Amino acid sequence: DLTLVWFRDDLRVADHEALTAARADGRVIAVWIRETRDEEGLGPRPLGGACRWWAHESLTVLHEELSDLGIPLLFAAGRAEKIIVQLASSLGVTAVRWTRRYASASRALDGQIKTVLNDQGFTVHSHTGALLVEPWTAAPQSSDHYKVFTPFWKAVAGRDVGDVLPKPQAQSPLSQTLLSRAHECPAVMELDGLGLLDGTETGAGEAAAASGPRWWQDTIAGHWSPGLRAAEDQLDDLSAIIDGYTTSKDVPSDAASTSRLSPRLRHGELSPRQLLQAARTTSSLTQDDRAAWIRQLYWREFSWHLTYHYPHIDSAPIRPEFHNFPYEDDDDALTHWRAGTTGYPLIDAGMAQLWQTGWMHNRVRMVTASFLTKNLLQHWWFGEQWFWDTLVDADEANNPVSWQWVAGSGADAAPYFRVFNPERQRERFDPDDAYIEDWLPYTPATAPPPLVDLRQSRQAALSAYDHMKNRS
Ligand code: FAD
Repeated sequence: DLTLVWFRDDLRVADHEALTAARADGRVIAVWIRETRDEEGLGPRPLGGACRWWAHESLTVLHEELSDLGIPLLFAAGRAEKIIVQLASSLGVTAVRWTRRYASASRALDGQIKTVLNDQGFTVHSHTGALLVEPWTAAPQSSDHYKVFTPFWKAVAGRDVGDVLPKPQAQSPLSQTLLSRAHECPAVMELDGLGLLDGTETGAGEAAAASGPRWWQDTIAGHWSPGLRAAEDQLDDLSAIIDGYTTSKDVPSDAASTSRLSPRLRHGELSPRQLLQAARTTSSLTQDDRAAWIRQLYWREFSWHLTYHYPHIDSAPIRPEFHNFPYEDDDDALTHWRAGTTGYPLIDAGMAQLWQTGWMHNRVRMVTASFLTKNLLQHWWFGEQWFWDTLVDADEANNPVSWQWVAGSGADAAPYFRVFNPERQRERFDPDDAYIEDWLPYTPATAPPPLVDLRQSRQAALSAYDHMKNRS
């Protein structure tokens, strides 16, 4: 039997249930699609600039790895609902398999595709793989979902998540006739044809528009090795990566303070189960480091739990009263924030780290997000969109959920009055200015003047919050 495996955000070959099951049934042909959303907005959110670069590089490696297993990987661009059905028919496969995704617009599309395929006589199997806890499998007694992290985590942390699956066995080559038939599908093309590295086409995003095309080649490309092989090397080294996590995790200047595995999870080069198992079985870790790091993995699970239950998480506040929040509309403030010219060194260093590397330390993400939404009173959407475009780990759950958390409109959010003071945060978490020296794009002599007064802008934020409460 021949199975079509549709790869999406799961660019790996080990611990891949769909691939393993397909190989158990016979031979496999694989496809990855650069998806375009339909008029109703179904399908995944179009990738931001940094993630498009990452996906292109990671797909190059996946292509080689699958090819070593005798499995061809096709590339296509356009509407998945057409491409998958066309490929399934012209290749004469018996089944189509994929790893489940959880954002509502993607789930709706996958449901439609499944119906069409079933109607045409194909078997469809969706598999787990992106999460340890599928969102519908955890609920408190009083509701269909959790709103607070700790009870969610207590309910799910002890669950058996099964064993990591090995790489599947290599298969004998597919016939040339079959492969030519695949290439006759008009949407099928070479990886380079997908345009993932083009910076200027429509929809490429704000970052590309702001900087001209291909900013990643001068900047972020030097900081990462995308692809499942480098990811697996990181996994082998997990004990070194998270050794001392409990004490180092809030030190942004320390390059090893956190694992930097987020883009691996985002693109599925590693599964959360591989990471959980590695953390559990690495004996050289202290109990505290192990537990603290595993807990963070469950924050990602919790973000997906919320994203599943709040389908408009990237546009609507979870707390409805925030519909009335009097955000200001100040392009100039937003431009300074994006460019890292606010005059507050921790903010500006963070925004420079993001621009240069496609990643920012979690502590600094919180401080820069608080500054934008509270001191500058700009809507969190604008920050979320900028992060979406510039982060190599930008995902449809962690990004909007974290922004809403900082902005105060999310579930289990930081209390609104907790406005991070960037100067105090700098003293606490970067007392020797090591982080600032690494990233700050200016010297004290050329420093821009502070964009806002911290005390006054904090007061203005608290008044805006009161105003919202009075209107709600
Ligand atoms: P580690 O500390 O080594 O943690 C291991 C893994 O646990 C991470 O890779 C991540 O998958 C998960 N994790 C850690 N912290 C969090 C957290 N606070 N919330 C959810 N999951 C977490 N993370 C993303 O993956 N994608 C995003 O788009 C994203 N946007 C964010 C936006 C803002 C405003 C904020 C405040 C945070 C955002 N985060 C996002 C969460 C967090 O900052 C990153 O997951 C973390 O910095 C990744 O670095 P790491 O892999 O070294 O993390």
